[in-house]
Amino acid sequence: MGFFDAPALNHHEQVVFAQDDETGLKAIIAIHNTSLGPALGGCRVWNYDDEAAALRDVLRLSEGMTYKSALAGLNLGGGKSVIIGRVRDIGNEAAFRAFGRLVDSLGGRYVAAEDVNTTPQMMEWVHEETDYVAGLSPDLGGSGDPSPFTAYGTYVGIKAAANKTWGSDSLEGKTIGVQGLGHVGIYLVEHLSKAGAKVIVTDIKEDRVKDMLKIKNVTAVAPEEIYDVPMDVFAPCALGSSVNDETIDRLKCQIIAGAANNVLSDYDKHGKILLDRGVLYAPDYAINSGGVINVYGEFEGYNEKRSYNRVNHIYNVLQEIFQRSQDENIPTMDAADILAEERIRKLGRLKQMHRSGKRLFSKI
Ligand code: NAD
Repeated sequence: MGFFDAPALNHHEQVVFAQDDETGLKAIIAIHNTSLGPALGGCRVWNYDDEAAALRDVLRLSEGMTYKSALAGLNLGGGKSVIIGRVRDIGNEAAFRAFGRLVDSLGGRYVAAEDVNTTPQMMEWVHEETDYVAGLSPDLGGSGDPSPFTAYGTYVGIKAAANKTWGSDSLEGKTIGVQGLGHVGIYLVEHLSKAGAKVIVTDIKEDRVKDMLKIKNVTAVAPEEIYDVPMDVFAPCALGSSVNDETIDRLKCQIIAGAANNVLSDYDKHGKILLDRGVLYAPDYAINSGGVINVYGEFEGYNEKRSYNRVNHIYNVLQEIFQRSQDENIPTMDAADILAEERIRKLGRLKQMHRSGKRLFSKI
């Protein structure tokens, strides 16, 4: 089999390997699909075990971004980049400016943003060399921290799931467990408390839990107990894989809807189990798209109010996913993938026709 047919490449449009001897930069940029627009995706710094692991990671993540942006209704494609190494060795101005030049050389096909182990400062260095970077701080004309938008989108998504399950958006009196009180979790707890929900929080960092207990209707449990407490909604907002072989039988909830990425440790297996048990799962990349929706605003002149309005659209997207899942008796994650692929196909075709000069509709 030839290199281009390798299944791992998943039909990526372009994969760029780059190194800069002067700064020690070793980076891979993966552009999965630009049918809907420029490939936006974070730049991650990670000390991978080997280069094959770095390649696998960047390919998987860039494909994920294609689906996420398409489903969120954005005119963006999917991409991602990884810089191989330790932050303490590579997290400096020279390396990130070299990376910025690399991004610039792609002429806007890839747009970088912050991700795991990259900081606003690093993105400012990238910005010294290219305009193709998003999510900068507001004083540089950017949209700043995406977390409040991710949290708001998650809140809206929980309401959509409530409506599907109980026939009403109201969260008044519902018991909702929030796992993880980081950038997203703290804002989510505030929204839920204001909506009259009984919020049970947990975090491995005790000071974060203490802060949250000052908020109305909030109680706490130890990190391991969150899986055993009866609740209406479980909202994972910590790390991935919180729903796994060990925890899935312990959970006593009707809805799983949180901001964390990769919530189900095995999508096919756990997605099917939840479907069979009638537990409604809000697919992670649909419910946590508030951040990317906010960043997208930078492409048209950033406006916070418009971003919040757009994030409300997550409600409709989830309704569509839940309906499709019910109609076809398929896990919600599969329904989300199908809807994303349909949008890419339909709109991507429109764009192609537009580019080739063909008229979409003949003039009457
Ligand atoms: P964060 O690192 O700020 O917060 C994570 C929190 O989870 C921390 O307080 C940590 O102590 C806690 N935690 C870790 N393990 C735990 C455990 N076993 N039990 C309880 N708490 C635990 O991260 P964040 O930015 O708030 O993001 C949360 C999740 O949402 C991540 O999975 C992230 O990938 C995803 N996400 C975030 C955004 C965003 O805008 N920040 C966007 C999309 C997806």
